[in-house]
Amino acid sequence: MARYHESVCRLCRREGAKLFLKGDRCYSDKCAVERRPYPPGVHGTRRIKQSDYGIQLREKQKAKRIYGVMEAQFRNYFKMADRQKGVTGENLLVLLERRLDSTVFRLGFASSRPDSRQLVRHGHVLVNSRKVNIPSFLLRPGDVVEIREKSRNTVRVKEAMLSSERKSIPAWLELEAPKFKGMFKNLPARDEIALPVQEQLIVELYSK
Ligand code: SF4
Repeated sequence: MARYHESVCRLCRREGAKLFLKGDRCYSDKCAVERRPYPPGVHGTRRIKQSDYGIQLREKQKAKRIYGVMEAQFRNYFKMADRQKGVTGENLLVLLERRLDSTVFRLGFASSRPDSRQLVRHGHVLVNSRKVNIPSFLLRPGDVVEIREKSRNTVRVKEAMLSSERKSIPAWLELEAPKFKGMFKNLPARDEIALPVQEQLIVELYSK
């Protein structure tokens, strides 16, 4: 599957927002967005007036990059969200939050979503006591996510758990840190998803 292999900090600078793709570094003063708060490239410091389409496109790119989803899969999420009852933009964010890799990150078992994706891919994560190595696996309310017993002592999990103590767990999840276990309690409400994304702009882009 296609993946982005360039510097991920460039993605944040392109979007003009912190996308938290590098774990602890994102919370330090080494963060590239804070050091160079303008788009990458030789024309980065030039002021360019964006069209409506440009603004919508940037919002979609930002959401895709936060969750580490490629274009075709993102569009599929949009189609699923559009078929569901309710507000399409909110449905889209809820679908993205239901992803296993996103939940593993939100529970603090990994320091970033890319890290969490790798943790899942390498078989360190169980869902309802069964190994699931598909990062895009969609969780349902009541599902229990845990780190496999053998993997609990790995440095990356321990370090992520330690640094995540500083962050809060979202309301739709419940964490039992000593057991390396968490529950996806219910579907999140939009105001519970702290994300610098205006999902309505994504809906407008795909509805053209
Ligand atoms: Fe983005 Fe993190 Fe890099 Fe800052 S350190 S630019 S938040 S990936």
